[in-house]
Amino acid sequence: LSEVAAQLTTPVEHLPGITPRQADSLRTLGLTNLGRLIAHLPMRHEKIEAESPIGELTPDQVVSARGDVTATRLVRAGRPRFEAVLHDGTDGGRLDLVWFNQSFMKSVVVPGVRLRVQGKVKKRGPGLQMANPKWEVIKPGEEEPPVREERMRPIYPANENIKSAAIERLIERALPVGLPLIEDHLTAEYRAERALPELREAYQMQHTPASEEDVPRSRRRLAYDELLLLQLGVQMKRAHLRTSLRAPALKWNKGIDKHLRERFPFTLTPSQDEVISDIARDLSRTIPTNRLVQGDVGSGKTIVALYAMLMAVSSGAQASLMAPTELLAEQHYLSITRILEGSRVRVELLTGSVAPAAREPMLARLAEGAIDILIGTHALLTSTVRFKSLAVAIIDEQHRFGVVQRAALREQASDVSSTPHVLVMTATPIPRTLAITLLGDLDVSSIQGLPPGRKPITTKVASFADRTAIYAHIRARLNAGEQAYVVAPAIYPPGGAQSSDGELGFLPAIEPLPAQEGIGGMAPASAAPPLSAGPPLRDITTLATDLEQTYLPGKRIAMMHGQLSRQLREAIMERFRAGLIDCLVATTIIEVGVDVPNAAVMVIEQADRFGLAQLHQLRGRVGRGGAQSECFLIADPTTPEALERLTTIERSTDGFHLAEKDLELRGPGQIFGSRQSGLPPFKVADLTRDRQLLTMARKDAAAWIKESPRLSRPEEHLVLRRMLKAYGRHLGLGDTG
Ligand code: ADP
Ligand code: MG
Repeated sequence: LSEVAAQLTTPVEHLPGITPRQADSLRTLGLTNLGRLIAHLPMRHEKIEAESPIGELTPDQVVSARGDVTATRLVRAGRPRFEAVLHDGTDGGRLDLVWFNQSFMKSVVVPGVRLRVQGKVKKRGPGLQMANPKWEVIKPGEEEPPVREERMRPIYPANENIKSAAIERLIERALPVGLPLIEDHLTAEYRAERALPELREAYQMQHTPASEEDVPRSRRRLAYDELLLLQLGVQMKRAHLRTSLRAPALKWNKGIDKHLRERFPFTLTPSQDEVISDIARDLSRTIPTNRLVQGDVGSGKTIVALYAMLMAVSSGAQASLMAPTELLAEQHYLSITRILEGSRVRVELLTGSVAPAAREPMLARLAEGAIDILIGTHALLTSTVRFKSLAVAIIDEQHRFGVVQRAALREQASDVSSTPHVLVMTATPIPRTLAITLLGDLDVSSIQGLPPGRKPITTKVASFADRTAIYAHIRARLNAGEQAYVVAPAIYPPGGAQSSDGELGFLPAIEPLPAQEGIGGMAPASAAPPLSAGPPLRDITTLATDLEQTYLPGKRIAMMHGQLSRQLREAIMERFRAGLIDCLVATTIIEVGVDVPNAAVMVIEQADRFGLAQLHQLRGRVGRGGAQSECFLIADPTTPEALERLTTIERSTDGFHLAEKDLELRGPGQIFGSRQSGLPPFKVADLTRDRQLLTMARKDAAAWIKESPRLSRPEEHLVLRRMLKAYGRHLGLGDTG
């Protein structure tokens, strides 16, 4: 294949200088064609010092030098090695060379031979040593090879089939063919204003940097591209929503406001009022609302959601509330029906537990408009769920900002010319810049502080050995008429039916997350350190028996977990709420949605098994009444990270602080990785490091979309295509140009 005919889509095996075998190896890294090969960026660069006289070599650097071999020896004892001494005639010009298991060298490298070597040099006693250096003989009479300049060597992601050095050679060979084919989606003028190198130049600089500065300079261009493309997508989507979709404008006036508030069992806090006015203003317009309401655990988001839903009902439209777990949906259903008791508002609950026989008529009434508020789990997103006029859709405790889910919700309005207003409620505070990147199409409101009369929760970390004392203390509080939660990581004893709670997360969250890859909000228990480390998971079945027989004899104890039927769950929660159960032994199923003010103490067993955010959520179940609440974390942490998590949670009850700490402990990659955002991860950009670049990309994208909302000008064709390819599917923009 001639260079002229090559395309970025040309398979690697057709490229000049690549053998079929090498092509096979490249394929194991996903490098199937020329374009992908060139887009395979180094993960880092290693500085190779310029060749210098031996006396000037810098220890611990990769260096090159040349000189004459003055002595050699073969050592057979121990690990066989071949040693040589190199002199270059300068002051201090002696370098000891050693090669292991290469005895054949004794016939090539003999005294008198002139060598050029490259490798990492170490200080060894008074002199310098280089182990296993690369070497070449400079033949007598031949011209001396030129002195090597300092160089940045790219280190590539590699695997057992092909090493970084081999990839480096192949890419270097492919560059002259591939680079000319790379078109830039940014104009020269645009780049100049931002001091960005041309795209092909950026790739060239990554693969074969001419200087140390080339590396960050080209990285900046490639990171900017990623951020810009995402921001263009996000803002294009936002512009599209604003201009082409219409939501019902809901009525809002003093009368309605007064009427709604009269139903509420308490006065709203100033912060709740503020958030409500943001929302009400949004809802009274035809621009579809897309707002994130964040507020710490227990800050009172439900009532805000209810206000929005009732605005829909006052306008004769419908509302929905979607929760991540059945338990939370059930609890919302119960508390909302309680608040609305005696009103004409018709509320129903739809979860996976609703029998088909009951489901059919419910869906029929929904489609007729005979249900005003539908509460449920992700079952609400099923295509058979059709509203007559859905005006407000609330997603509660969503920790993944699935644009995908919001898109699915929008499709439920039967009238295509009308899309619902969407509100997302979350207790997971997100640093603002990051929120904007990932949720660029969402407005954000925050509920600050907690409702009045709350006392801060006291948190204590204790060891397994303290259990007796802790439970004695719990017993005393139960004797005084209070209630308690005891949380453990598993339902059944080891070897029992199942070792962890099969509780549903939110949509994609259903699958358990691998270790430590939990989400800012709620990593399931399985997100804790690997199960093989430490003792087996303590289970609530054994624990409940222990409590009954040993620690809390005579107390009314019940278990709560995801394997119970809805009837049982509801009955238990009702009894707990009514004070007929003293102690609820539960899995993390209670981490959201359980709200019983008289329950003022919590014990979390094997607390080192839980993530920071999850501990915060769990702890948020207490501290909901006027009594002084306590949370005991029983743990014997085995890793420094676990210890730090526990110390952090012991010291702070501030969700924002904890979120930041979580970010620090786990890194934004973990928290803001694709799992949470629903977006593919960045290859180059790094949200902690590139904040400034992000701000710039965001501004640039906003200006760009303002001028050309659909990127439909001919010169924008390339940028549009690249944006759609990267993010179109995720943003619901279609994925081809
Ligand atoms: P979250 O933000 O975690 O969803 P909830 O909405 O469940 O919090 O509210 C926590 C508790 O605080 C509930 O018992 C709720 O009734 C109560 N609450 C909410 N707002 C107020 C308020 N303004 N005054 C008194 N209690 C409130
Ligand atoms: Mg809530």
